[in-house]
Amino acid sequence: MSNPIPASLYPWLHDSWLDLQKRHRQQGLPHALMLTGPRGMGKHVLSLEIARWLLCTRRIPQQLGSACGECHSCQLWQAGNHPDFLECKPEDGSKQIRIDGVRRVNEFLVQTPQISPCQVVILAPVEVLNVNAANALLKTLEEPPGESFILLETERHGSVMPTIRSRCQRLSLAPPPLAVSLAWLQQQGLTETDARQSLKSNQLAPVAALEWVKQDYHSKHQNWLTSLQRWSSKQASLEDTLAQWRNDELVDVIEWLGKMLADLMKARMGAQPQQIIESGVLQCFEPSTLDVSKLLALHERISSVAGQLRSGVSHHNRQLLLESLLIEWRGLAVTMGRI
Ligand SMILES: [Zn+2]
Repeated sequence: MSNPIPASLYPWLHDSWLDLQKRHRQQGLPHALMLTGPRGMGKHVLSLEIARWLLCTRRIPQQLGSACGECHSCQLWQAGNHPDFLECKPEDGSKQIRIDGVRRVNEFLVQTPQISPCQVVILAPVEVLNVNAANALLKTLEEPPGESFILLETERHGSVMPTIRSRCQRLSLAPPPLAVSLAWLQQQGLTETDARQSLKSNQLAPVAALEWVKQDYHSKHQNWLTSLQRWSSKQASLEDTLAQWRNDELVDVIEWLGKMLADLMKARMGAQPQQIIESGVLQCFEPSTLDVSKLLALHERISSVAGQLRSGVSHHNRQLLLESLLIEWRGLAVTMGRI
């Protein structure tokens, strides 16, 4: 007798689990299911639980339940060595999923299951499939061979090729109500103040918020902010500012700059103080002096670069990129005639 909800699932994923079980009872699970939602929602935890349950040999068709944890399949799963399960993700230091990875998926799925009633593939993140890999996946998504399931994960649903999107059913994970996230983060040992601050900085995604505090991203961001304030007020040189960020991942710096810019835009448009996530950024500029068209142009540029970096398709020279972004940043304020 299995429990209806797997113990490993975060509390805010329970509804998604029950929703899936309902879909399964009514029309069976789709062969291609895409889990979408911001980073730090627990998409991967959920897809692993779905896979474990689909593979369990004691799974009763049409019945609500979770993996038994005892059968041969569940034991192999526990050992991390299940012959009917395959995970497809970026490999060999690449940020992309290449065609070789998708070929392995296709070859895997034409075999017959060895132990379980089906085969399961988890492919994540979908948005980093390169064009050839995505094309190689289309036919498999359209007509999955035998009894097989492909679970896909993405935090940027809009960046996924429409031909892939249209072949998958979607399960969207939205951030839980604040009270649920706060309670969970406090159970993990965070103070309420830290929990609130980190949720605010992480699009309300609880796992990302926990990670943010554990990895001390808060102090890191404070240091970045100090150097950005000094650069904006001409107290620091370009060289010194870049030196402060030299050990940090380029994509982290760029995404953070994007968030700072988003706050400046809100302030320029007259947003209330509580809508500004990082109020310290307002010490870089007096919002009323900001040039709206320059703000929009820089925001667009940063979003595009961040997307390219996340998808592994960027070949930017780090030094040149950061220099040009910082120069553009300092030029955001409307220049007064007397300066
Ligand atoms: Zn089992």
